[in-house]
Amino acid sequence: MGETEGTPLMRQYRDIKQAYRDAILFFRVGDFYEMFQEDAVEASKLLSIALTSRDKSSDTPIPLCGVPYHAATSYIAKLLRAGRTVALCEQVEDPKLAKGLVRREVVRLYTPGTLIDSEFLPAAESNILVAVATRLRTGGPDNKGYAIGLATLEVSTGDFWLSEFHGPRAETALLDELARLEPKELLFAEGPPSDEHQWMNGLTGLRCCAQPAAWFDLDAGRLRLQEHLRVHSLDAFGCHNLTLGIQAGAAVLRYVRETQPTASLDHIRQVRVRHQHDAMHLDSVTIRNLELVRSTSRTDESSGQSSTTLLGVLDRTVTAMGSRLLREWLLRPLIACAPIEARLTAVAELHRHLDTRVRLRSALRPVQDISRLCSRMSLGVANPRDVLALKLSLSSLPAIHAELSELKAPLLIDLTASWDNATDLYELIEQAIVPEAPVSVRDGGILKDGYHPDVDELRKASREGKGWIASLETKERARTGIESLKVRYNQVFGYYLEITKANLGKVPPDYIRKQTLVNAERFMTAELKELEERVTGADTKLTALEQQLFEQLRTELAAQTARLQEIGQRLAILDVLAALAETAAQHRYVRPSVDTGPVLHIVQGRHPVVERLTLSDGFVPNDTHLDLQTSRLHIITGPNMAGKSTYLRQVALITLMAQMGSFVPATEARIGLVDRIFTRVGASDNLAAGQSTFMVEMTESAHILNCATARSLILLDEVGRGTSTYDGLSIAWAIAEFIQAPSRLGARTLFATHYHEMTQLEGLREGITNYSVAVQERNGHVLFLRKIIPGGADRSYGIHVAQLAGLPEVVIHRAKAVLAQLESTTSSQAPIRETQQALQFDSTLPAPHPMLEEVRQMDLFSMTPLDALNRLAALQQRL
Ligand code: ADP
Repeated sequence: MGETEGTPLMRQYRDIKQAYRDAILFFRVGDFYEMFQEDAVEASKLLSIALTSRDKSSDTPIPLCGVPYHAATSYIAKLLRAGRTVALCEQVEDPKLAKGLVRREVVRLYTPGTLIDSEFLPAAESNILVAVATRLRTGGPDNKGYAIGLATLEVSTGDFWLSEFHGPRAETALLDELARLEPKELLFAEGPPSDEHQWMNGLTGLRCCAQPAAWFDLDAGRLRLQEHLRVHSLDAFGCHNLTLGIQAGAAVLRYVRETQPTASLDHIRQVRVRHQHDAMHLDSVTIRNLELVRSTSRTDESSGQSSTTLLGVLDRTVTAMGSRLLREWLLRPLIACAPIEARLTAVAELHRHLDTRVRLRSALRPVQDISRLCSRMSLGVANPRDVLALKLSLSSLPAIHAELSELKAPLLIDLTASWDNATDLYELIEQAIVPEAPVSVRDGGILKDGYHPDVDELRKASREGKGWIASLETKERARTGIESLKVRYNQVFGYYLEITKANLGKVPPDYIRKQTLVNAERFMTAELKELEERVTGADTKLTALEQQLFEQLRTELAAQTARLQEIGQRLAILDVLAALAETAAQHRYVRPSVDTGPVLHIVQGRHPVVERLTLSDGFVPNDTHLDLQTSRLHIITGPNMAGKSTYLRQVALITLMAQMGSFVPATEARIGLVDRIFTRVGASDNLAAGQSTFMVEMTESAHILNCATARSLILLDEVGRGTSTYDGLSIAWAIAEFIQAPSRLGARTLFATHYHEMTQLEGLREGITNYSVAVQERNGHVLFLRKIIPGGADRSYGIHVAQLAGLPEVVIHRAKAVLAQLESTTSSQAPIRETQQALQFDSTLPAPHPMLEEVRQMDLFSMTPLDALNRLAALQQRL
């Protein structure tokens, strides 16, 4: 123990800790990881373990706490969850052989974005690390656009992407991308605080860490990437014209190297460029509003997929890789007909062939997370069970291949082309590893008999030795006449002879006493000692050899990463296609057709999530017919709770599902491709940034009007609700006009509103059609029919909803009286008329409030003060 007491150890600790100030340092001392000083104080609290101290007698005892090395993982996980990082410092030489202090090094830095360990990673979710490189545009104060480079790396699978965003909306595009990726950690170049990093303020819950600016250097970075990917030029990966992307990519790689200094990162063997125009751009607001992957109704941070999201409803994948890929397809719907059709044709075929689908899915079921397993091989952390998991996965390949042989969809044929059953790798593992191998490489018992002659030889020696020791018992019993004599073994003393107190008199002189117990004594003999050395010598050699051979096998498998990753990708795609077919069959979805035409035609459409939550087929289907040319903007009126929001979302979800290659909940659907889906739905509750509801609403609306194109699909729900009625109505009105006008936007739009004044637009502008949600009134009560019908709602049903909600009867009565009074005074007002300048924007205003008109028309000069007071009182009465 001498070494742990003296100051050299603490000096070594301080030297190492210096380089890892932000992390909690797990400092290996014997069988424990110890934490000292402020780390100990903090960790003991976070981990609920005892805080003690070294040198208790000294004036300045050093706070200390520790965890056993074999249980470290769960403690590390706990610290990571608490938002901390952990540096794992190991003894890197054998303490028995060390001269003086054992050398120690940090072998791994655990940070949320660089995890590779299956214990920490939810199977169905990616664990992504990103780096962002920014450059302020030099276009003067007006051109406040940045150029931004983004690198995305999933260390656990080796997926590595670069992208860039340019122009005034670069920042928004970046934030949207981050919303899709949900990274765990973000790196940026350190430097003086500047406007450049303002966008980071909105990233709550994401760990953002500044890294040395040198890591982001372009030339050095390019070299680092080239070296790592073993190419002379990055042209090979199509990223020659990226600069900021390369800078970010180099930083990400550097960081991973820094966190896993001893690992080969060979599984990161290619980098891909993600172009913004390859997929439908879904912004963060829309992803949230449509509840694609997370539910907004639940406030808890549960990461489990909930059945109240589209992903939850669609995900019938049977492998972790498939599950992650489905999420990606969902968040990146396609925008070109051909690849969408390719997916749909494959899904359709699997949908038709029930038996094949069932067999294919059950063949896929044993497939483990090959992508992550490969990475663990490359990183040198895969254990025997991981290798067995790989074997199990590979064992399914022939059956999967067989199922595909009859199928004709081009995408499925592509997936089967040059199919690799990896039989050689399967055989390699099959011959080497015993089926019940332990998790740890250190425990031995990994390799099969017959795999390696030296292993067999050592096992034989060990077995024989143990046999001799066993026979020694009989021999010694005979020699001493002690019937109860036993040969035993424990970890501390090794083998010994145990003799009960009663028989001690018979112990021969050559027995050497080792230990005295209450009822017995333990002895050693020269012969036993010799046999023991033979056995333990063989056992030690055996575990060392097994470990070495296992590592060799792991390296051999790691060399096959490219092949295995390819296999993993194909299986993931198959899993997703089969899952989509399965969901389609279970929920009675139909194949949509997609084209580049102007129409969005849905017959008997349903909301995929709400229909699941509605009891006994109670969901009421609805049709939609949006046409760019004739009826592109639908004004949808109806009382609250009628089903407007559900209808809006349903149209968006069906469109999105079609473009990701899924069947859709409808009896018929024809989707004229949509380039983006925009949503401004409900009074957004996102007040995190401290903005008022109305400000959020207007910012989101501005974003839509600025970014949408004629091919976008826009959903607006209750725009203008956050302000006074007339303010709100005029804004809603002007927005509708802007969207409707082909010269401005002319995009397909569903506009739900409770302002029935808006229905007047239908008569004033081409391309606008009124719809409403049908309700039936019975005995003063409202029955919601959930049916979208042509024509505007004729009145507001707010009072009925108030009644349903249980407002006191007197309030309801009074509200009805006030409404009646208001309606009688407005009824004389003519509807809003067009002026001559028919298509000028401000030409058609909604009717001003009748009372304002009355005030305007008062002739104040001919009134006595008493008259004026009376008129004022009358007005007040009507309010
Ligand atoms: P609004 O936006 O008009 O206030 P919502 O869309 O929020 O109304 O719908 C109100 C309720 O009606 C929701 O709880 C939803 O589950 C239910 N609902 C909506 N549309 C349908 C439908 N087509 N069939 C059955 N229930 C529906």
